[in-house]
Amino acid sequence: MNDIAHNLAQVRDKISAAASRCGRLSEEVTLLAVSKTKPASAVEEAMAAGQRAFGENYVQEGVEKIRFFQDKGVTDLQWHFIGPLQSNKSRLVAEHFDWCHTVDRLKIATRLSEQRPAHLPPLNVLIQVNISDEQSKSGIEPEAIDALAAEVSALPNLCLRGLMAIPAPETEYDKQFAVAQQMAVAFARLKTHYPTVDTLSLGMSDDMEAAIAAGSTMVRIGTAIFGARDYTKNKEL
Ligand SMILES: *Cc1c(COP(=O)(O)O)cnc(C)c1O
Repeated sequence: MNDIAHNLAQVRDKISAAASRCGRLSEEVTLLAVSKTKPASAVEEAMAAGQRAFGENYVQEGVEKIRFFQDKGVTDLQWHFIGPLQSNKSRLVAEHFDWCHTVDRLKIATRLSEQRPAHLPPLNVLIQVNISDEQSKSGIEPEAIDALAAEVSALPNLCLRGLMAIPAPETEYDKQFAVAQQMAVAFARLKTHYPTVDTLSLGMSDDMEAAIAAGSTMVRIGTAIFGARDYTKNKEL
């Protein structure tokens, strides 16, 4: 087994253990492999180990990888955009990605819907919520979820799938869980209004267990699968 296959197996074991500790099935939690800054060859190794869902933060870099696999005739990968999205990059996301986790204003949602090509299924979107990080400018306040969800769900070429959050880093499990639970409550509420809502994107390497215990359905893991990132090579930063 190579490193990536080995790491993936370990992460999957961690997800299963966390799920079974709280009486959930591991199939209820999707592993999103965050491949930002990593070459297509790393994605290929993960693919060979059975991974299908990949997350990218930088539009241009993500699109290059998506095109690389399309050109090779690989059609069963799922690409998730999980980075901050500027209006001038929305077209590339609408044209190439399957999901966007970081919708936090109507303007971006409207552009994504207008720019989604007619031959593709609706773009799956998550509303990003600023759940704990006052420093962060990304995400809407929890109180604003209902209004934005109503607007997003009315857009023809988007499919509202749920919520996403990047909580402020916190080392204590109980504090991680408390924040994750606030997201889970908002998610459960949203679900009762929209039948398409089935995804809570929450949990990274350090808070995955608490997120799963609270009800996350998608964890986003990069370093534990692909190793540390070298940002000096990334031109978009
Ligand atoms: C980079 C990133 C991750 C993965 O982080 P790791 O620390 O590498 O596991 C998850 N979610 C988002 C939004 C990210 O930007």
